[in-house]
Amino acid sequence: MGTWWTKAQDAAIDRMTEDGAALEEIAAAVHRGAAQVELRRAQLAALRHAERPWSAADDAELRRLKQLRLGWPAIGAALGRPTEKVKQRAADLGLAGGGESHAKPGQVAGAAKMRRCLCCQVRFYSAGIENRVCNPCKGTETWRIGGATGCGNAGGRVGMRAGT
Ligand SMILES: [Zn+2]
Repeated sequence: MGTWWTKAQDAAIDRMTEDGAALEEIAAAVHRGAAQVELRRAQLAALRHAERPWSAADDAELRRLKQLRLGWPAIGAALGRPTEKVKQRAADLGLAGGGESHAKPGQVAGAAKMRRCLCCQVRFYSAGIENRVCNPCKGTETWRIGGATGCGNAGGRVGMRAGT
């Protein structure tokens, strides 16, 4: 059962809590049960906690925890913030992702993706930046012998080497 709380009710809970009002008084004021108010108060506190600004100390702690290669949920728990907020902040600080700062540069720059074969110009799935020739080309005798100029997968070009 979802319980809808209006902004006015939330504000009343905040204000009366600050004023040191008893739970029953607050409950009466917002026309809810004391247990509901207590629950809502905890939710509001958690929300506020999650949204609180990042201090320099928080950032430093985030950096430190990230260097320990902890998972996001663990870092979030340690900082008392939702995982998503921690990830977001890490991205803002340039710390995002699965620990790129520790990865070899080639692993990032040369990630697997579609690349154009240097040999036959056909797009293929390349495992990394060093993988620039498609498998059909690699498999040809001509490629192994003649390199890019002797692409065996580009139709009639195979015979050219014989003619030169
Ligand atoms: Zn090719």
